[in-house]
Amino acid sequence: MAYSECKWCYGNGCNQCETERRKAVAKWEKDGPQPIFTAKLDDPDAMQALNRVCGREALVEAFGPDGRGVKDIELNACIENMLDILKIENPIEG
Ligand SMILES: [Zn+2]
Repeated sequence: MAYSECKWCYGNGCNQCETERRKAVAKWEKDGPQPIFTAKLDDPDAMQALNRVCGREALVEAFGPDGRGVKDIELNACIENMLDILKIENPIEG
C-alpha cells in the first residue's frame, strides 16, 4: 500500500511506504498535528504571506479545474515557510 508522504517514493509505492506511514502516525500521536503555516496578525508581511497560502486567489486556484486541492495549499505554505527562513538567514540591509 502506497503512503502518499513517503520520503523514498513520494507516494508511488515502495517497500518503505508502510514503515514511513507508521513513523508518521507515531510522530503525530506523540506531537499532535502541527500547523502548516502561522502568521502574526500584527505583521503585514506575514499577513500577505498568509494570503498567498490560503487567501481567496490561492483557494480558487487550488480548488479550480487545474488545481490539486489541499496539496497546493500545503505547497504554498511550504514555499512561504522557506521564504521566511531565507529572510531570517539573509536579512536585506536598509
Ligand atoms: Zn514509498
